[in-house]
Amino acid sequence: MEHLWAPWRMAYIEPQTPQPQGCIFCTLPAEHRDAENYILYRGTLCFMMLNRYPYNNGHLMIAPYQHVPSIMHMHVVPRWYGDTNFMPVIADTKVLPELLSSVYEKLKRALDALRDSPTEPGVDAAG
Ligand SMILES: [Zn+2]
Repeated sequence: MEHLWAPWRMAYIEPQTPQPQGCIFCTLPAEHRDAENYILYRGTLCFMMLNRYPYNNGHLMIAPYQHVPSIMHMHVVPRWYGDTNFMPVIADTKVLPELLSSVYEKLKRALDALRDSPTEPGVDAAG
């Protein structure tokens, strides 16, 4: 028997863990606790956050600030060679090899660098 350690998932399993009330795409950006809520980027009309229940590492959700009744949002799920192996097929288990906090830090640094880059596409010298 092999063991996979995923202690970060305990926060989602324990019954005393408060579950989000209402629409997460409205409540989480309003809390202004971006790192804790894994909000990576705030645009003028939309924001980008990590999915707490990712299909794959770096699974992003992009949503408008304005509430849309159908909870409209887009998913961006990165894929790469080797991201799927025997585990989902044989064991019905998806292995996520990196903590959400680590993915958040990497993507935040990359997005901040892009934002600060003078060569950012679509941004002229006047900003
Ligand atoms: Zn909403």
